[in-house]
Amino acid sequence: MNRTLEAEFSIWKRRGFLWPFTLFARAAACRLHRIPRGLIAEPAEACTGKCSGCPPVQSPAMLQPELMFRWLDASPAKPVTIHFSGKHSDPLASSLLGELAVTARSLCSMLSVSTIGLGLVPGQETLPFDRWIFSLPAATGQSWNALRGNSRFPEALNSIKTVMTAQNAMVEVVLTLWKHSSGDKEAFRKLAMERGWKHTQTVFGRFDPAGHHLGRVENLALDAPGFPYRLNSGGIPELKEKPCGCPLSDYLFLSAQGTLRPCPFTGDESPHLTEPSAESWNIAADWAERKRRRCFAECEWCF
Ligand code: SF4
Ligand code: SF4
Repeated sequence: MNRTLEAEFSIWKRRGFLWPFTLFARAAACRLHRIPRGLIAEPAEACTGKCSGCPPVQSPAMLQPELMFRWLDASPAKPVTIHFSGKHSDPLASSLLGELAVTARSLCSMLSVSTIGLGLVPGQETLPFDRWIFSLPAATGQSWNALRGNSRFPEALNSIKTVMTAQNAMVEVVLTLWKHSSGDKEAFRKLAMERGWKHTQTVFGRFDPAGHHLGRVENLALDAPGFPYRLNSGGIPELKEKPCGCPLSDYLFLSAQGTLRPCPFTGDESPHLTEPSAESWNIAADWAERKRRRCFAECEWCF
């Protein structure tokens, strides 16, 4: 069974018999109104990672539950999926995460969260997410320390255990391969077996032109087999093969500041909307074609 089907089966068990019907109705409404079926929402601009070399954001914005509700209420079609994630930030950093989760869960058919697993505070492990995705940058203490410049690997492992013990939501653990962790696949396989992680995945870390610590050129797994980038003559990563289409073509991004954007990676030079209204959703629906053509500046590095 693939990951999406496994997730759907697990949510069906949690949400009850009628869940597939509401999911189908929401998907149909999204298609009818040309609204992307997924919304990625950023709960906070802050991060709980405290990696050395990544300065904390001064006065980070927190997505206000009331503002998220106004955006969703203004949409002609409610999303099928809401996914809490960050852009150089982590959802666990939001003191409003509980309120956001309860509001979002009532307005979508699948609610998920991606986190680095650091800074989990008591009570967050029982929040009503249908799916938790833990993203690890390494699978050994040594490679973790080399990458993050701190020794919080056991804390991340403990957060995964805490959530798995607290509830029966689907828990997925993703290893992102960077230069120092490019040889960690076997260690990750062993960790998964020891700890009973049923859903795992390995991906490559992406280049972050904004220069945030983990996405810098010096951290990329450039020599790993299958790595999607090579360095051009100027030392800038470029994709070896341009992927077709946009990996997030059926998603929009609501930032912690309450701004609707094409995806988490586009910045202020790309279109963005600040007013929750049906008109804004209609404008955002028109971004789909530009996303498919990958015509935003950040699409150059996106795989
Ligand atoms: S490098 Fe990434 S994970 Fe680490 S503190 Fe910065 S934003 Fe957080
Ligand atoms: S950067 Fe471009 S290709 Fe990547 S997710 Fe955003 S819109 Fe899609």
